[in-house]
Amino acid sequence: MSSCPSLVLRSGAKMPQVGLGTWKAGPGVVASVVEEALRAGYRHLDCACDYGNEHEVGQGIKAAIDAGVCKREDIFVTSKLWNTYHHKEHVRPACERTLKDLGLDYIDLYLIHFPISLKFVPFEKRYPPEWIHDPEAANPKMEVDPVPLSETWAAMEELVDAGLVKDIGVSNFNCQLLADLLSYARIKPSVNQVELHPYLTQEFLVRFCKENGVVVTGYSPFGALSYASIGMAKEEESVLNNEVIGKIGEKHGKSPAQVSLRWACQRGYTVVPKSANIDRLKQNLNVFDFELSQEEMEAISGLNRNRRYNDPGVFTELAFNTFYPIHN
Ligand code: NAD
Repeated sequence: MSSCPSLVLRSGAKMPQVGLGTWKAGPGVVASVVEEALRAGYRHLDCACDYGNEHEVGQGIKAAIDAGVCKREDIFVTSKLWNTYHHKEHVRPACERTLKDLGLDYIDLYLIHFPISLKFVPFEKRYPPEWIHDPEAANPKMEVDPVPLSETWAAMEELVDAGLVKDIGVSNFNCQLLADLLSYARIKPSVNQVELHPYLTQEFLVRFCKENGVVVTGYSPFGALSYASIGMAKEEESVLNNEVIGKIGEKHGKSPAQVSLRWACQRGYTVVPKSANIDRLKQNLNVFDFELSQEEMEAISGLNRNRRYNDPGVFTELAFNTFYPIHN
C-alpha cells in the first residue's frame, strides 16, 4: 500500500489526506476500530464531542500507543467544539473535556462544528448535549442563543496560545462567513470541514478556501450512504451505486469507494471516510497507487447535483422542531 500524503496547515503541521471518521461509530466497537485503523496505517482521526464516543476513541489511541503501533506525535487528531459552547467562558472547558475524554494533552485541530449557537447545557446535566435543549419538554426543540463569531473565535485563539490545540478551524462554513472571519482573525482558520462528494462538489467554496490558505476537509465522501441509516436519504442514491464511478473503478481495478476518495484527494483536500469494517478501512486508505485522468476527474465532477444531505435548514425542522438554515 502506498503511503498517505499530507497537506500542510498554517502552523506547519502535516494533516494526512485520508483520516478515519468516527460519527455514528457505535459504543462497544469504537475503541477496537480506532486501534485497528491505527494498525492499518491511519494517522488521522476525525472526532467530535457530539459523536458521544471520544472516551472510547481515546481508549483506542491508548491501546495503539501502548502496543507500540505509533507515538502520539505520529497521529493527527481533530475534534470539534459543540454548538452549546460558543460563549467565550465555555470554549476552554469544552476543549478540556474533549482532551480528558481522548486522553490527550493537546489536539492537533479544533473546529467550530457548526455556525449555530445553542443555549448552554452544563456537562453534569447532559454530555454530549446534542441539539434539543430540553428533551423532556412538551414540545422539545433547539434553543438558539446567538453568540458573535468573533467572541467564539477569540476563545479558540486562546486555546492555541495555551498550547491545548495546534491549529483551529471551522466546519460547515460558507464563503461569506469565512471571508468575514478571515478579515479579523489573529490566528486564521487552518481548515474548513464541509460535506463534499460527487453529488455535492462545491466548486466555489473549495476554490475560495484554497485561495485563502484554508485546507478543506470533505466529510460524508460517499454521500447518501451515511444518511440512509438515519432516514435522511435513500441508500440507492449513494454515489457508490453510480455507473460512471463504477466503470472508472473497473478500469483501475478499484472499488467505487476508492474512486470517490481518490477523486477527492486529487481535488486537493483531505477526506475522512468512516467505516467500522476492517477490510473497508484498509480499502479506503489504499487510494494512492493509482491516478484518475483529467477526463475521469471531469466526468466525476460532472455528476454534481448540489445534493446536500447534512443540511440544518432541513433536519433542524424535521428532527428538532426548529427552523435554522445556514447555507442560504
Ligand atoms: P461516509 O461518507 O464516510 O459514509 C459512511 C458509510 O459508508 C458507512 O455506512 C460505511 O459502512 C460505508 N462505507 C465506508 N467505507 C466503505 C467502502 N469502502 N465500501 C462501501 N461502503 C463503505 O459518511 P460520514 O460518516 O457521514 O462522514 C465521514 C466522517 O465525516 C464522519 O464519520 C465524521 O467524522 C465526519 N462528519 C463531519 C460532519 C460535520 O458536520 N463536520 C458531518 C458529517 C460527518
